[in-house]
Amino acid sequence: MFKAILVEKDDQGYRAGLHTVDPTRLPEGEVLVRVSHSTVNYKDALAITGRAPVVRSFPMVPGIDFVGTVEQSSDPDFKPGDAVVLNGWGVGETHWGGLAQFARVKSQWLIRLPEGLQPEQSMAIGTAGYTAMLCVMALQRHGLTPQSGDILVTGAAGGVGSIAVALLSSLGYRVVASTGRAEESNYLQSLGAAEIIDRKTLSEPGKPLGKERWAGAVDSVGSHTLANVCAGTRYRGVVAACGLAQGMDFPATVAPFILRNVTLAGIDSVMCPTRDRQEAWNRLAKELDINKLALIGSRTIGLSDVVAVAEQLLAGQIRGRLVVDVNRD
Ligand code: NDP
Repeated sequence: MFKAILVEKDDQGYRAGLHTVDPTRLPEGEVLVRVSHSTVNYKDALAITGRAPVVRSFPMVPGIDFVGTVEQSSDPDFKPGDAVVLNGWGVGETHWGGLAQFARVKSQWLIRLPEGLQPEQSMAIGTAGYTAMLCVMALQRHGLTPQSGDILVTGAAGGVGSIAVALLSSLGYRVVASTGRAEESNYLQSLGAAEIIDRKTLSEPGKPLGKERWAGAVDSVGSHTLANVCAGTRYRGVVAACGLAQGMDFPATVAPFILRNVTLAGIDSVMCPTRDRQEAWNRLAKELDINKLALIGSRTIGLSDVVAVAEQLLAGQIRGRLVVDVNRD
């Protein structure tokens, strides 16, 4: 028997709670993982509270990411004791996820925990950090170097934004951080931001083309912000779009693309191919300054705290990352 958060929906309504579960109930998959840590992401909080239709079948164990060691494997690529990480692939949405002491998953969904990264650190980085690295990789694959010019990061004080600022500044880029929280300016500067701008300067409807300000951008905000980011990007610049904190819409024109040769690079962490995932995690282990990760901050909680914390997270009352030690009471 093992402990797991179960999300249920039936005649009694939608609810989430801590349960003791029989391992025979685990879904199919080549690899059984003994989970050590998971996290509570925004998407997990939506799944736990039922605030948005994230969960596609019931009962569901939420948790879109986890780290642990292989317990059993029918795939020769993995053997008992291997340290593994999983992000996405619909885990915690359509397939039982990481907020449990065990998970059974497809072997192709797993990547190896890179050397030098402790399991708890990997979950402090989490899907937000992995997505930030995918954005950095996209900017670099399209040819941006520190000599290309400034890089804008929107939603800078958020999870993806904070790690993007830390990574880009450590790589030598001059980072402009856009935030709505002026009180976080010192924090953003300590992560490496050279300049802070008020997010209001980007969030209202703007012109199709503006002054050419940045060589590239990591945008976790979408909507008018993304449109204005593209309009202010320099000739042959690159914008990595990964989020929708302001909105799902994209009220833009094609002017930046056809007149300034701007590239809009979409970033999806969920179905991202294994090769890119492993590269992202290997690079995080080497390139993310652990002191900066400590500044971003994380709090470790137990499985029994998860449901209460999900409500607080949706209410915007949590700062920094939430790591779940699934073996803590
Ligand atoms: P957070 O909630 O930690 O950060 C989002 C940040 O966006 C906030 O901190 C805030 O930054 C800014 N923001 C919030 N509301 C608004 C608004 N109305 N207008 C402008 N800016 C706003 O989320 P994450 O960093 O974890 O995720 C960021 C986005 O990326 C989310 O939309 C998430 O769904 C998405 N995401 C996508 C992934 C993918 O695979 N593509 C993977 C992971 C996340 P500030 O306070 O600095 O202004």
